[in-house]
Amino acid sequence: MISIVVPSYNEEENIFEAARAISGVLAGLEYEIIFVDDGSSDGTWQKISEAASDTHIRGLRFSRNFGKESAIRAGLEAALGDASVVIDCDLQHPPKVIPEMIEKWNNGARVVEGKKSTRGSKGRSYGVFAKVFNSVMTRATGFDMSGASDFILLDRDAVKAVLSYSENGSFFRALAQYVGFESEAVYYDVAERERGSGKWTFFKLMSYAFRNIAAFTSAPLLAGFGAGALICAAASVLFILKWCGVPLGSFSAGILTLMLVGGLVLLTLGVIGYYLSRIYDEVKRRPKYIISADTKERK
Ligand code: UDP
Ligand code: MG
Repeated sequence: MISIVVPSYNEEENIFEAARAISGVLAGLEYEIIFVDDGSSDGTWQKISEAASDTHIRGLRFSRNFGKESAIRAGLEAALGDASVVIDCDLQHPPKVIPEMIEKWNNGARVVEGKKSTRGSKGRSYGVFAKVFNSVMTRATGFDMSGASDFILLDRDAVKAVLSYSENGSFFRALAQYVGFESEAVYYDVAERERGSGKWTFFKLMSYAFRNIAAFTSAPLLAGFGAGALICAAASVLFILKWCGVPLGSFSAGILTLMLVGGLVLLTLGVIGYYLSRIYDEVKRRPKYIISADTKERK
């Protein structure tokens, strides 16, 4: 059985269309479609309730807007399928790619990632922003995040693994790779959004980017340590040169002392940053390992 998880926020114009398009590509299979209404203020829930007269369709409604990551999580927690596919409600992730994902899963892949081969018409600045963000995330996670999206199929074990990362600021598309199962990719062209409007504002996007970078790397916290060490080293070398009588122009003993003190302050901040990052890692309570196979389960 396949579960399809559809986070939906103010998507009243898209629910029926999405239900129809997704059902269309799954005909002949056992499936469920779970719409998660992320606290919409329009008629989304009414549409979902109506659509749910089809026994394949289930609706969950949040008490308020908790954000797409929470909607994905709720859908995956409710999913009963042997594999689950997360897909946007606005049909920008083309449902016709789902059978391809299912085929790769049938051939042994446990995570099938939908990768954008084009970005749709989001404008240049957005493209540059996405590129920078994706390359930072690629370095932070160690997985290629270019073109990554939330359009992903996960088998049941991979769903369980993703859900075992119980931190609040979770980042689904990175976690799907981070859990480490055999993964494959399918490529798709981002469709235009035909109905309703995108939900991102500049500030929402920025805070999303910083939160996700912080979730996967402590590098910014530790940057002070590097800078401090560098400045201290430079000041020490200059002090030694000065002591040996090398003329250093405007580098007076006073300035060198200031440099050394500044460097030490940065260094100390870096040490504090290190402990903070250790605390942050601990409070995330991430699983210490994930098992992908066990001989006892072999038939
Ligand atoms: N979404 C959500 N909660 C939110 C914002 C968005 O569940 O707070 C859903 C939205 O309904 C859509 C998907 O997340 O199904 C992607 O949203 P959108 O199309 O606005 O983003 P983009 O396509 O620009 O990534
Ligand atoms: Mg969209």
